[in-house]
Amino acid sequence: MEYGGNRMSEVTSPIQPEATTAAPRAKKGKRGLIVPFLQTILPWFAGIVAICGLVAAVDWVLDLQLMIVKRGPAIFGVVYVTNLIRYLLFAGGTFLAFYVVLRRTGWFAQIQKSLASWADIRREVTYSLASLAIFAMVGVLVYLGELAGVIHFYYDGIPTAQPFFWFSVVTMILVHDAWFYWTHRLLHTKYLYAKVHRIHHQSHNPTPWAAFAFHPVEAFVQAIILPIVGLFMPLHPIMIVIWMLYMTGMNVFGHLGFELFPRNFLRYWPFYWHNTGVHHNMHHRCVNYNFGLYFNYWDLLFKTNHPEYQAEFERVTSREDKAMTDTHDD
Ligand SMILES: [Zn+2]
Ligand SMILES: [Zn+2]
Repeated sequence: MEYGGNRMSEVTSPIQPEATTAAPRAKKGKRGLIVPFLQTILPWFAGIVAICGLVAAVDWVLDLQLMIVKRGPAIFGVVYVTNLIRYLLFAGGTFLAFYVVLRRTGWFAQIQKSLASWADIRREVTYSLASLAIFAMVGVLVYLGELAGVIHFYYDGIPTAQPFFWFSVVTMILVHDAWFYWTHRLLHTKYLYAKVHRIHHQSHNPTPWAAFAFHPVEAFVQAIILPIVGLFMPLHPIMIVIWMLYMTGMNVFGHLGFELFPRNFLRYWPFYWHNTGVHHNMHHRCVNYNFGLYFNYWDLLFKTNHPEYQAEFERVTSREDKAMTDTHDD
């Protein structure tokens, strides 16, 4: 059961929107962002801080000298800063490249008629910065799993020469793809959409800054897949780096607002098994379709691709005037 309607406003195609029950656009202005943002994140962040404070207090009172208390804050800081750099490089770099430099060249197809509003971009950045804190907290959980002996890292040898290393890279990506598809379907059930996933869907015309613009619960659901896989498979830090680069790249590509693949991409196997920029951009307009992250086979198998997906892709990529407008929504 999916929730939300088919928004196809400001689209390049003749597809008409169905009656929408999707979240309304955020109010413009600072109050329209800050108050709902704090209402969304504060209960969750207060709970996390309270649990951490309790653990630290018990450690201090009983003089347990717990490693998680000693190292936890430093691990949190390192993971937060590392992820922040990754976010700024990928989202900031592509935003600068496509929205500032390349937009006027018409080399790449702009998917929707106009650009996202500055209010949308501010909201996407604000929620993403909060999501990075949840990702850092999951980094601390990974460390806790290693301390507890249930998550194993290996560091020895030249990993790229080991078949198991490449097996683990492929497994991580395939498992995450399945995890993303099915948790995403779950997030589109009525209750979870209204309470959680609607935050991400406030962007109807997403930019790369929306890559991590999640409700704290959704950020946790996305990040927890690493420790879950770590319970069943030894992890190498370079495997995690490769997976994160591909994950961030595809996440940014899905929200880029420009299509990078050529016009014939979806006509041939195996290319149509890989998702495109148009695929996830359509999901932000037609919320009942296109749930996949990296690959299209889950959407193909469960018939959740938008019926106009390929036609929309070809319309976008075959336009003469690929750069459609200079103006932002507001
Ligand atoms: Zn999205
Ligand atoms: Zn969604």
